[in-house]
Amino acid sequence: MPVIKDAVCSLCGSLCDDITVTVEDNKITKVENACILGHSKFVGMFEHDRIETPMIRKGGELVPVSYEEAIEAAAKILVNSRRTLSYGWCSTSCETVGGAIQLAEETGSVIDSTANVCHGPSALAAQEKGSPSASLGEIKNRADLIVFWGCNPVHAHPRHMSRYSSFSKGFFTEKGRKGRKMIVVDVRKTDTAKLADKYVEIDQGSDFLLVTALRSIINGHEDVIPETVAGISKAEVLELAETLKNAKFVCIFFGMGVTQSRSKYKNGDAMSSLISDLNQHTKAVMIGMRGHYNVTGFGQVATWETGFPMAIDFARGYPYYNPGETGANDLLVRGEPDAAIIAAADAGAHFPQKAVRHLARIPVIQIDPYANPTTEIADVVIPSAIVGIEAEGTAYRMDAISLRMKKLIDTKFKTDEEIVKDLTAKVRELKRGA
Ligand code: SF4
Repeated sequence: MPVIKDAVCSLCGSLCDDITVTVEDNKITKVENACILGHSKFVGMFEHDRIETPMIRKGGELVPVSYEEAIEAAAKILVNSRRTLSYGWCSTSCETVGGAIQLAEETGSVIDSTANVCHGPSALAAQEKGSPSASLGEIKNRADLIVFWGCNPVHAHPRHMSRYSSFSKGFFTEKGRKGRKMIVVDVRKTDTAKLADKYVEIDQGSDFLLVTALRSIINGHEDVIPETVAGISKAEVLELAETLKNAKFVCIFFGMGVTQSRSKYKNGDAMSSLISDLNQHTKAVMIGMRGHYNVTGFGQVATWETGFPMAIDFARGYPYYNPGETGANDLLVRGEPDAAIIAAADAGAHFPQKAVRHLARIPVIQIDPYANPTTEIADVVIPSAIVGIEAEGTAYRMDAISLRMKKLIDTKFKTDEEIVKDLTAKVRELKRGA
């Protein structure tokens, strides 16, 4: 029975690449090293609500069809659309993302990723201030102070702390957790906060205030700090600033508690400046706790293909980017798209009501291995192979390190990459005949 070592878990942005998988009769029967989330993806894939066949909605019902029929129906929707939204593409490979960008260019669509409703503001902050970062390997081997700010890895990235951060043992951090300090900044005492040496509970939406106060102290202006900042006392802010300055290597991991709270991208912008300030005293870096396993990869591929990381509008014949105007949600709330392609993401479950209501009014093409709320409003449903299990491909970890995901078992499903390629070819054929 084949035992495959060093498989990559394609679930969260930690992209653990030390998974051992046992395959019997083309089924995964044993998984070693994965956390409960990763394990359920590897072995539970047969139990989830898998889309078994391509489908087209006829008379209000989704009816099974062949891949060829579904791709032709999808291509017709795209060719007849004047303003298509292409959204998602973060739980799939970089190769698929490259194809999806080509398809968006071919159809003059807007293409956007799930980052727009999670870590998108960090991308804007990185454009303005840069993103002083490091690999997770460097952090494992060197960081003696780990800060989790507005994130809860115990639940969202369960192996992060043991593989790369708080609990891991590295070359200069051989004592593991005993040799590292761990601070959590959040608005409520999460399970991650319960493991920290210090938990700093701040008022909701006040991250910018605290970061700015820390910067003032680190730059020698503690006299301007009021008695209370972000719901914590001046004494506590001073102590936190000292701890950051006195560490040998600081890493601030930040989550959606920072990127989606009040001040949005300005939080990331201020955080980046805080890291620069700290680097006058010690070594400091920051990394976003990315959720979908290849959301970082979308940003990488989109940036090298178009110059922009998300929310890219090809309507003018060249890439145009203006988040707030060209983001998926912005477009849907304005009621602009007359067709949508949703792939490897679930807009139906995650977008606000007004956006979902507009999606329900227009033709929607879904590409995904699993049925989800988007399936309920889709007109063409195209099932795909699960990347990292049934298909190989490249993904980028949260620290922008690329990893190659293996194919572990055979499947009857087409890969996302093949579907996008076939769809683009069909669109070109229909356009030639038009
Ligand atoms: Fe998979 Fe994330 Fe768990 Fe690692 S931490 S095994 S990548 S779900």
